[in-house]
Amino acid sequence: MTVFPVFDGHNDLLSCLQHEGETPERGFFAGRDGDITLAKCFDGGFAGGLFAIWPTNDPATRVDPMATLREFPEVSQARALTDTLAQAALFARLTRSWPDALRACRSVEEIETARADGAIAAVLHLEGAEAIGPDLDLLHLLYAAGLRSLGPVWSRPNAFGCGVPFNFPASPNTGPGLTGAGRDLVRECDRLGILVDLSHLNEAGFWNVARITQRPLVATHSAAHAVTPATRNLTNAQLEAMAERGGLVGLNFGCAFLRPDGVKNPDTGPEVLLRHLDHLIEILGEDGVALGSDFDGTMIPNFIKDAAGLPKLTAAMQAAGYGDALIAKITWGNWMGLLSRVIG
Ligand code: ZN
Repeated sequence: MTVFPVFDGHNDLLSCLQHEGETPERGFFAGRDGDITLAKCFDGGFAGGLFAIWPTNDPATRVDPMATLREFPEVSQARALTDTLAQAALFARLTRSWPDALRACRSVEEIETARADGAIAAVLHLEGAEAIGPDLDLLHLLYAAGLRSLGPVWSRPNAFGCGVPFNFPASPNTGPGLTGAGRDLVRECDRLGILVDLSHLNEAGFWNVARITQRPLVATHSAAHAVTPATRNLTNAQLEAMAERGGLVGLNFGCAFLRPDGVKNPDTGPEVLLRHLDHLIEILGEDGVALGSDFDGTMIPNFIKDAAGLPKLTAAMQAAGYGDALIAKITWGNWMGLLSRVIG
């Protein structure tokens, strides 16, 4: 089986490690019960990606993980700050402890150098900006710590905008758009060269970002609403707007976002992912589609299971008639093209 080097748009390793109670070196380098470990990445060709900081929900929040509609309340800035700093510190410790294996990268040149050296290229992402105050000071501190990608919201409201609650079948048009502070945050990210991720925004927030940003429109881990009408997926109107701006979608592997029945069922075959890829390529073109697994953050189809299973997905693409040149764009080249236009 051909192993294609993969640059992946999203994983939740850092928030998992924060709560697994192990030292990060033990968990990632020596093995853990998760989707991402050094050995699994090596086996599957996982050669780089956006590594998310995710401020966790308040432990008092009780939402049935199998419910169709899942709405999450705001988390406090103080709570989000604790998680954000803890996970940024984890990222620093992980990437400094063995940089020949996992390396912090701030540009495409650094990513390509890491790949040439055989190290996994890790770019720091923030999923939910609750920890950042309206003065945006923390944004600058995180930028200095390597942050190059940011989703203003996760799927809950905050001072910057409203994340889309999880629901199926339903429209992503679920509430008001960005606040004034949210617009300022997008402008400052543009100025710094931080990618603004559309993945968890509701539809009004999506159109706000589209009007403000001068950069390509990007969803790091999403899928197609026309195939699976989940609120987290992008409608054809959204995809067409992204295509006009040379944008990109990293395909999410989450079963509930991929299956046309919207059910959380890991018995989800490669043909389901291929339906989304075909649809996304039809609208965004062959340069606008990549991967955004959501490893360690969602229910992954059994046939992939974890980072070691990536070659099973690319083998399915080959079997469906995707040429190796197109697969290499989806697994690596398209993310490099996009990032070179945003982070440099
Ligand atoms: Zn996410």
